Amino acid sequence: MKPAAFDYIAATTIDMAIAALAAAGGEAKILAGGQSLVPMLNFRLLRPSVLVDINGIADLANIEETGSDIRVGALTRHYQLETSAIIARHFPVLSCAMTHVAHLAIRNRGTVGGSLSHADPAAELPMLALLLEAKLRIASASGTRTLAAREFFLDALTVDLGSAEILTEIALPKLPPRTGWGFEEVARRHGDFALAAVAATLTASDGAIAEARIALTGVGPTPVRAADAEALLVGHALEDGLAVRAIDAVRASIAPESDLHASSDYRRHLAGVLAGRALAAAWQRANASAA
Ligand SMILES: Cc1cc2nc3c(=O)[nH]c(=O)nc-3n(C[C@H](O)[C@H](O)[C@H](O)COP(=O)(O)OP(=O)(O)OC[C@H]3O[C@@H](n4cnc5c(N)ncnc54)[C@H](O)[C@@H]3O)c2cc1C
Repeated sequence: MKPAAFDYIAATTIDMAIAALAAAGGEAKILAGGQSLVPMLNFRLLRPSVLVDINGIADLANIEETGSDIRVGALTRHYQLETSAIIARHFPVLSCAMTHVAHLAIRNRGTVGGSLSHADPAAELPMLALLLEAKLRIASASGTRTLAAREFFLDALTVDLGSAEILTEIALPKLPPRTGWGFEEVARRHGDFALAAVAATLTASDGAIAEARIALTGVGPTPVRAADAEALLVGHALEDGLAVRAIDAVRASIAPESDLHASSDYRRHLAGVLAGRALAAAWQRANASAA
């Protein structure tokens, strides 16, 4: 299949992209890595009148450390994240997660902004944005706004982003010292979208969990945090009985769909198993970093 005809604008600045989006009156699409957009154009699931190519906007592709945040430009490629020394130092859970996204050729093109804006229900980056409490910076002709990741993902393939808005950057607040992490995913083949995946961080203080974060993908229309399980964990060491109760709470907090790839029951069971493994790894790392 070939896409329907469209005009093409190669933006070289954010302002140029914003002006092109505004002029198109809702009929434009942003082209980033093209790994999700181009197949949708070819299948004619989308027929934008204009493509606004943002690949020429150099200052959208930076990873920068500021005082309390790591800022990641929307055009940062998946492979850049995977191999960034700054990301490895501050968010090894994110470096690890990126190795599970598709295949190297796709990771060389796919971008942070594209993955978050596309919001596939089984994608890794939206789950990591939720886990790491990312703040998303969004620009349009009427100015900029900042949104928390938990407000951004509305439904499957649906985010809080207008047709004339562009996601320019995410800010990831640094994690407290003595924070360990775990990441677990099951896919049919390496590089496929997850049947289910779990990312967790645990912060240790005086032998107990001071902060717990558990995020899941592939188990519903949007990524989710398992808030009840997180609350159960705080104030205690991760003992076997507590881990089992946390796993039960994770399973109770999700309502996965059945589809071609897996039943709802299987996904729920899997999510619990993966959460147990991710929590055990996070606790082990949190205590190792305290030594
Ligand atoms: C075979 C295959 C396997 C894959 N496997 C996985 C996987 O396992 N896990 C995973 O997470 N992903 C997977 N992907 C998707 C891949 O990660 C894409 O990179 C990602 O979904 C889209 O990023 P992109 O930069 O290519 O965006 P594009 O395809 O260019 O754009 C996607 C959508 O986002 C919009 N958009 C892009 N950038 C912005 C922006 N800055 N602001 C506002 N809107 C924007 C576009 O207009 C479009 O609607 C796979 C893709 C393929 C082809």
